[in-house]
Amino acid sequence: MSGQNRVLVAGAGPVGVTVAYALLRQDIPVTLVEASGELPSAPRAATFHPPTMEMLDRIGLAQPLHDMGIEIKTWQYRDRKKGMIAEFDLGLLSGVTPYPYRLHCEQFKYARMILEKTCAFSDCDYRNNTPVTGFTQDADGVSLAVEGPDGPETIKGRYLVGCDGGRSVIRRQMNTGFEGFTFEERFLVLATTYNFEPDGFAGTCYIADPKEWCSMFRVPADGPPGWWRVVFPMKPGQTEEEIFTDEFVQSRVQGFHPRSEPYEIVHRNLYTVHQRIADTYREGRVFLAGDAAHINNPLGGMGLNFGIHDAINLTEKIGKVWRGEAEDDVFDLYVRQRRTVAVEYLHAQTLQNKKDLEETDEAVRQETQAQWRRTAEDPELARKFLLRTAMIEGVRRAESIQ
Ligand SMILES: Cc1cc2nc3c(=O)[nH]c(=O)nc-3n(C[C@H](O)[C@H](O)[C@H](O)COP(=O)(O)OP(=O)(O)OC[C@H]3O[C@@H](n4cnc5c(N)ncnc54)[C@H](O)[C@@H]3O)c2cc1C
Repeated sequence: MSGQNRVLVAGAGPVGVTVAYALLRQDIPVTLVEASGELPSAPRAATFHPPTMEMLDRIGLAQPLHDMGIEIKTWQYRDRKKGMIAEFDLGLLSGVTPYPYRLHCEQFKYARMILEKTCAFSDCDYRNNTPVTGFTQDADGVSLAVEGPDGPETIKGRYLVGCDGGRSVIRRQMNTGFEGFTFEERFLVLATTYNFEPDGFAGTCYIADPKEWCSMFRVPADGPPGWWRVVFPMKPGQTEEEIFTDEFVQSRVQGFHPRSEPYEIVHRNLYTVHQRIADTYREGRVFLAGDAAHINNPLGGMGLNFGIHDAINLTEKIGKVWRGEAEDDVFDLYVRQRRTVAVEYLHAQTLQNKKDLEETDEAVRQETQAQWRRTAEDPELARKFLLRTAMIEGVRRAESIQ
């Protein structure tokens, strides 16, 4: 049983390393198993919302993250033709949170920083180049099947947390569906060194257009002013070869912000985007967290934040059960709390964000934009709106579920 007296974590992405680190801090031994050799550095999430910073503060990670990031205090809704429609000041939340801003930092920096801290614990057994292939469980524990550098192996533990991303092997083996849909269009993510700020753009902007909406946000990169990432929808049928040509990517950015010089494009990537939630996040001793449990479009910058909220919620409960302070039915509360808000907030808000940006009905577009203006101009309406979009309302809702 001593070999089983640990928690197994599948996947060392940003959610897996958060789970591992939060457990180790509670003196719970962890085996963290990662398929790749080095953690991926693809540009994905970069936004950390106020409640995520508060949770990371509880486990001593807010400051080191803050040191690597940039504070984004305002964000804008814009119209591709008309320009700025409304600007929201997160300072309105200063009475509610010690972090009244979005912190922008690339997720790979976050994951690598925590992995380093995680591996410094003597109770951490980190195995990279080791894909998990399946698991079995019984009343005593979980057996995780992995394909290590020396061949197949079985690792035993008391619990298993599947943080192995959208294509999770753990989820596929659990008796759960992953209902939802895949968007027809793919998302093109470009990064440019051009600094949009002197032209009046906030560090996060959502730009509505019936033909080609886009969203943009500033990331720290290698230092000020950082890079700007711009996301565009790509119609079905366009090939990667066409999309990745210099001419095509240049025309996308020139299309919404024309200038005489070409943009320096330092990164280009294409994503298929889904909107799905697992039917349950628990089967006995096995749990799901992060993208393994839910995936969504990136508009609003919420997916990773939600995964970190899962990680903090679950590891606090595992800690209580480990120390004999709670029975294991507390794990059903994890599912109720986190899955409910994934439906009510994560999916509802990200779908609404996309709908607002791509709306083609002119009357609806006008009314939505008028509503953005009215909300931004009225501090009480703006505060209420920010509580929702900064994810505070969702966290409060989860806490209210018993
Ligand atoms: C373009 C884009 C922009 C985004 N922007 C934002 C944003 O601004 N804010 C936000 O909150 N979210 C954003 N997201 C979402 C965010 O990137 C994800 O929610 C986040 O990566 C989820 O982290 P994770 O650790 O759950 O999964 P992942 O990051 O997918 O990590 C999973 C890990 O598991 C490993 N793994 C996979 N299979 C196995 C296996 N069989 N065995 C062992 N290991 C395995 C992988 O190698 C990986 O390291 C964005 C996503 C995209 C695509």
